[in-house]
Amino acid sequence: MSYDSNNIFAKILRGEIPCIKLFEDAHTLAFMDIMPQTDGHALVIPKEPATTLFELSDEAAQACMATVRKIGNAQKKGLGAEGVVLMQLNGPAAGQTVPHFHIHVIPGSIADLRKPHATVMADQGHLKAFADKIIAAL
Ligand code: AMP
Repeated sequence: MSYDSNNIFAKILRGEIPCIKLFEDAHTLAFMDIMPQTDGHALVIPKEPATTLFELSDEAAQACMATVRKIGNAQKKGLGAEGVVLMQLNGPAAGQTVPHFHIHVIPGSIADLRKPHATVMADQGHLKAFADKIIAAL
């Protein structure tokens, strides 16, 4: 699958559109999902341009998992999440809507994910309040 450098996450990485940032290192960025399925729903993306897991380098995959662990631990500590669900969709046929590899890090339970995916935009203040708690626990 060829990479579309105008996808929304590529624009976030280039600083062309804003995000509520949780964490950044040389290889990854973590930020709040604007249509969260639970409070605290975060996304981890590589800085490398890859559409799905199958184009991602082993090094970037490893860097993403390290950031996922950081964010998941901060959701447990900062939000009191007892469970953390990871979701990762590859290709439109799987339901992937943004063609830049990402891992959803969702505090809660699989039972919370019965809400439809990527449909309801959350209030910025609400997202920021949960982001602040995650950041404080990083
Ligand atoms: P997927 O369907 O797995 O490709 O997930 C894409 C996710 O990106 C969805 O959960 C959307 O809510 C989320 N999303 C889309 N646009 C933005 C954005 N500008 N900032 C943060 N999250 C976004």
